[in-house]
Amino acid sequence: MVQKISAVRGMNDIHGEAADAFDYLVTTAESTFKQYGYRSIRLPIVEKTELFCRSIGEVTDIVEKEMYTFADRNNESLTLRPEGTAGCVRAVVQGGLAYNQIQKLFYTGPMFRYERPQKGRYRQFHQVGVEVFGLATPDVDAELIVLTARLWEKLGLNNLELQINSLGSQEARVSYRERLIAYLNDYKDQLDEDSLRRLDSNPLRILDTKNPAMQAIVEGAPKLIEHLDAESVEHFEQLKAHLDDLDIAYVINPNLVRGLDYYNRTVFEWVTTELGAQGTVCAGGRYDGLVEQIGGKATPAVGFAMGIERLTALLMDHDKVPVLAKPDIYVVLVGNNVQRSGLILSEKIRKALPHINVQMNCGGGSFKSQFKKADRSGARYAVVLGEQEMSDQVVSIKPLRETTEQITVSWDALTEHLVQLMSV
Ligand code: ATP
Ligand code: MG
Repeated sequence: MVQKISAVRGMNDIHGEAADAFDYLVTTAESTFKQYGYRSIRLPIVEKTELFCRSIGEVTDIVEKEMYTFADRNNESLTLRPEGTAGCVRAVVQGGLAYNQIQKLFYTGPMFRYERPQKGRYRQFHQVGVEVFGLATPDVDAELIVLTARLWEKLGLNNLELQINSLGSQEARVSYRERLIAYLNDYKDQLDEDSLRRLDSNPLRILDTKNPAMQAIVEGAPKLIEHLDAESVEHFEQLKAHLDDLDIAYVINPNLVRGLDYYNRTVFEWVTTELGAQGTVCAGGRYDGLVEQIGGKATPAVGFAMGIERLTALLMDHDKVPVLAKPDIYVVLVGNNVQRSGLILSEKIRKALPHINVQMNCGGGSFKSQFKKADRSGARYAVVLGEQEMSDQVVSIKPLRETTEQITVSWDALTEHLVQLMSV
């Protein structure tokens, strides 16, 4: 036998319940975003490498060691997108979309990071993201948070904790950076390799460490939130007031700095304790400087991205995935010459009852085997066309879940009967 070819490590096929959960999450998210007046944007999966270096930051996990970068046939350095914000900003600048207008956008799709694959952490993973351009006020930060809260509510996920923090202005960060370096210097002999390297280049990133051995040092560090500029304090106060008004509970996590360089002011994460170490299911914040950094006119912006795999894992663990593809009606076709009429009748039902799922038995089989399939499909009714029904131009409608009687109806009256049966 020829040797099988497996998928690339960390890049998974998604099927069965996981695929149902994926679709359910994405459709629910997108309809929620539309309810708030957000619009879809579709973006390329591949971008010029420089875009990510310039936006995410050179001294970040992503740019240092996680990007799938390659030279194309023209020797241009390209990268599979590790996240969606950079490409979205690039598109908005390139399309002139933020010029004297507000944009409220959402996108869905695969992202790629060369990380160590484990539960909730893959090399190809998927995000649903939202970005808003042209608004600097905290009402929009609050809107993004309330919108995600509404989504969790719709999905039946009620164990997520909201953590918020403020990173202040770039200037406030510069002076805080000095304080932080001074503090961390006293613990130089205890810092891990990554943190040592970042001590001078990007010390804030050390606060984002996932290394438990570093936690005590990080806990004792001076807090950025205590050294904010006055406008950022005011912005944060207003955000908290909005969240209070909307009854959205939050905790302030002063060590929440996020893994990307471009954030300022508001940052937030939705976290669960149910997925082990990979507990953040949604993360975002304000990035007022990024549009300019990518070559656009200075434009305030704020956004978030949620990890689809982590959320679908939660949905499945809590049995919150509706079976979307379950047929309501299973069409049983037994005998010679029933296929042609069977196809016509199935189409007629689908057309007359557009919200009802109709699965037609394909490939033949005995009554017994077809009824077994009909039963296993979860359908409520079997519509049966055998040779006798065929010659009488009728079908039988047999309830599969209820104890009501089987009935026989003419082809002409079939859809009318089904409309009636399915309405109760
Ligand atoms: P983490 O701290 O878990 O590495 P991150 O800060 O790198 O996350 P973001 O870049 O903010 O993540 O991405 C937003 C969300 O995308 C995360 O909160 C998470 O739910 C999801 N995500 C990020 N990386 C992965 C991955 N490798 N596999 C699966 N989901 C991921
Ligand atoms: Mg990460």
